Amino acid sequence: MPGQKIRIAAIPGDGVGHDVVPAAAQVVREAGAASGVEVEVAFYNYGVLRYLEEGKPLPDDVPGLVRDLASRHDAILFGSAGLDPRQPPTVNCRDLLVGLRWVLDGYVNLRPAPLLHPRFCPLERKVPIDLVVIRENTEGVMTRIGGNFKKGTSDEVAIQEDINTYKGVERICRYAFEYARGHGYQKVTMADKHGSLIHAHGLWQRVFWATAEKHKDVEGEHRFIDTLCMELVQHPDRFGVIVTNNMYGDILSDLCAGLVGGVGLAGSGCINPGNISMFEPVHGTAPDIALKGIANPFAATLAGRIMLDHLGHRRAADLIWGAIQLAVKEDQVTGDLGGQLGTQAVTEFLCKAVHKLAGK
Ligand code: ATP
Repeated sequence: MPGQKIRIAAIPGDGVGHDVVPAAAQVVREAGAASGVEVEVAFYNYGVLRYLEEGKPLPDDVPGLVRDLASRHDAILFGSAGLDPRQPPTVNCRDLLVGLRWVLDGYVNLRPAPLLHPRFCPLERKVPIDLVVIRENTEGVMTRIGGNFKKGTSDEVAIQEDINTYKGVERICRYAFEYARGHGYQKVTMADKHGSLIHAHGLWQRVFWATAEKHKDVEGEHRFIDTLCMELVQHPDRFGVIVTNNMYGDILSDLCAGLVGGVGLAGSGCINPGNISMFEPVHGTAPDIALKGIANPFAATLAGRIMLDHLGHRRAADLIWGAIQLAVKEDQVTGDLGGQLGTQAVTEFLCKAVHKLAGK
């Protein structure tokens, strides 16, 4: 039984995070209240605000900061790290984002891509889409292990290692089956390229099928990554939970987001089921629209939805989804979605909608 009080650390960071994180936190709080969960939100100034006050966006000991935040909260809602009109282009809080990912060992990158409304799907043939990309987030070719020999010469050799461990592959495959089981998906599709990457993806094959054996109520299915990309465009309705390695997951997450309206409508979780996890909108700092009161709060609010769901508060998470659907249906949306409203007005609509949907 989930606890009825949760403590969230909200870190707007840089740029548009300052528009969308307060908005998302407000909706999360109201969705919690409407479903009997007290959501306590503490805001932290790491990023541009700290830079303006102290001349540095972050303290020197970022891992220590992350451990301290983790010891005092149940989850972290992060905005964005990068450009902000109030600080020089070289200053940002990206090290905190990296620190959160690594210190907390957030090995699951969870990117749900449900279709909010048929008009957001660029495909001509409209079908229901409800994809979830579960990307291994700590290994693969993105660990930056490798090197260059004779760099800058015509004899240069560049080596990038692909790290795949039993522990890493097993825990992400297990998470995918358990996620599917817990969220009503009938199957898990694993994407690899084991015909060519015989060693690394041979491990994925063995571990995936062994994990499928242990979760017989959910079907295991395999696709080569190239085939899956093609089939996702042709028949996105045939897929649900997809599990894959770090790099393929990076690419697939954006492909799936593109099928349901783009990264501006996508939230994500950087999850460690045994530790505290971090949730963020997929979009960046959007310096062109930051601080103007016009940013779309949906992606950050959807990150809040994933957070509530992860913390076991499914009812509150569902209320957020329902409220966003209602906002789209009634055209209570920001300019990027063709609406007339600003961030605050959309947020207020969502807050009222969660209570209305909860029957309160
Ligand atoms: P970064 O380098 O931090 O990733 P970016 O500008 O390259 O930043 P985004 O911040 O994702 O990438 O912005 C891409 C485009 O999407 C921009 O035109 C931006 O204004 C728009 N955008 C991003 N987030 C939002 C939002 N919440 N509401 C409306 N438009 C947004």
